[in-house]
Amino acid sequence: MLKFNIQNIRKDFPALHQEIYGKPLVYLDSAATTLKPQVVIDAISNYYSTINSNVHRGVHYLSQQATDAFENARNTVKDFMNAGASKEIIFTKGTTESINLIAFSFGKKFIGKNDEVIVSAIEHHANIVPWQMICEEKGARLKVIPVNENGELIIDEFEKLISDKTKIVSVAHISNSLGIRNPIEEIIEISHKNGIPVMIDGAQGIVHEKVDVQELDCDFYCFSGHKLYAPMGIGVLYGKEKWLNEMPPYQTGGEMIQSVTFEKTTFNKLPFKFEAGTPNVADAIGLEAAINYLQSIGLEEIYKYEKGVFGCATKKLSEIPGMEILGNSSFKAGVISFNLENIHPYDAGTILDRLGVAVRTGNHCAQPTMDRFGIHGTIRASFGIYNTKEEIDLLVGALLKVKEMFG
Ligand code: PLP
Repeated sequence: MLKFNIQNIRKDFPALHQEIYGKPLVYLDSAATTLKPQVVIDAISNYYSTINSNVHRGVHYLSQQATDAFENARNTVKDFMNAGASKEIIFTKGTTESINLIAFSFGKKFIGKNDEVIVSAIEHHANIVPWQMICEEKGARLKVIPVNENGELIIDEFEKLISDKTKIVSVAHISNSLGIRNPIEEIIEISHKNGIPVMIDGAQGIVHEKVDVQELDCDFYCFSGHKLYAPMGIGVLYGKEKWLNEMPPYQTGGEMIQSVTFEKTTFNKLPFKFEAGTPNVADAIGLEAAINYLQSIGLEEIYKYEKGVFGCATKKLSEIPGMEILGNSSFKAGVISFNLENIHPYDAGTILDRLGVAVRTGNHCAQPTMDRFGIHGTIRASFGIYNTKEEIDLLVGALLKVKEMFG
């Protein structure tokens, strides 16, 4: 393991070293997507320059090499999440596709008329709309765990929502719009006591803390590679084998079949049953490179460093007059969502951009969260492994300039 050295880490990310409107880039939009280290870019490029080939179907040398590399990547993800077996790791395009897969496949088999699905009030649209659609299709009902003024889930209310009609609970590990870390252990324990499976949307969670799916005992866990320093277009669905075995295929075609006749098709074993068509081999290899990169630095070191930067950002932003931070909880990571009194977030974001500071503004694909707090949107600063306390000072300076301009 290398010693954590922020300057060396920053050198690993080529996109960090550019100027925006003549100012050094301060990238504070990692919750939308992270920048990629050179090793990830090289891994993708190497695949296309050498073993580029389709997997699982060729007898030739390159195809076998590509198949080995693809399955090694699956194994690396399995170890990273501590899944029980690599067949419990399904490669998808990202969190959105993973949740759609579960909602429609699990829903097809296990959700019926008058059944209920529970999500929380602070979910990304990706963890609302697929459930809403399957509920509509089946005549089932979507129930919502409310949050308190700080954006924290009200567990007593969650317990009241559970009934013998509840078929699944699906909540975010960390909210992308507030940065709140939900008490997923408690949610899983309560749900399991009632015999209900739980899906965790880990798009933001797996980036900021170690995930051990066996210890968590969640039934499903989803994440996107591109938020974990890996390429876009690759994601993961972890599912317990017992569920995946019972769930019908989500998409159909090549790869996912065992045999096809015009009379009947039988399906492939896990994980291939859920991977119809040619998979995204290059980006799975890129995801493996990202995981290896993070592990070579040391996950605990990374989380500790990020916590320091996050604490510093929270403190310094809170000190700005007229600052309104959404989600004032001590259980937070990675994301600070805020507004400046009497300044539209979009106006602030545009000025910040001119000053080289990349943040996101708007509802962050979480319109119901904004509705809960009676606002249209926020400015969101989100942090990655490469951000520094000096960059927090640049953000604060830029926000003070915004205030000056609009004050
Ligand atoms: N869930 C959460 C909590 C997210 O933050 C995001 C993306 O921002 C998603 C789901 C959707 O991820 P993707 O667009 O990579 O599929």
